[in-house]
Amino acid sequence: MALAMDEFRRLLADRGYRVTAQRLAIYELLQENARRSHHPSAEELYQQARERFPMISPATVYNTLELLVELGLASQLGFPGDVQRYDGNPHAHANVQCVDCKTIFDVDAEALEGIGQRVAERSDFVILGQRFEFYGICPRCQERRARERTRGTERSGSRSGAADGSGAR
Ligand SMILES: [Zn+2]
Repeated sequence: MALAMDEFRRLLADRGYRVTAQRLAIYELLQENARRSHHPSAEELYQQARERFPMISPATVYNTLELLVELGLASQLGFPGDVQRYDGNPHAHANVQCVDCKTIFDVDAEALEGIGQRVAERSDFVILGQRFEFYGICPRCQERRARERTRGTERSGSRSGAADGSGAR
């Protein structure tokens, strides 16, 4: 589960990190993004954070993201051909990215819940996080591809429609 803000404060303090308004805000922003299943890049989070802290530096955002990853409160998504994105959804779930529009979906999969525990037992690691990444073609792009194929057989050289997936920025 995501931590409530006072739990996050306590965790920072317990680990010897300074509790700053910026750190709290970035964690809060990441959770807001996660709630709408959005996986922002560091640059996007920086732009979002600037609305509340006009003087915040990109380095503060990057360093806080690194800290959140280290604390197991965020994970970095490493889809090829895309910028580094962050996921604030801390419970075991799969991310599936569309190779066409780059939109990333969260998929709950109960089967993943026990894997971290088993990996910990077999490796003697303290597991901080995990990621399960899949890629494929989203329903919307499947439809677009099908339309293009149909149009292509009618007359060749048709232009593809613009992908307007929310994650395609
Ligand atoms: Zn797509």
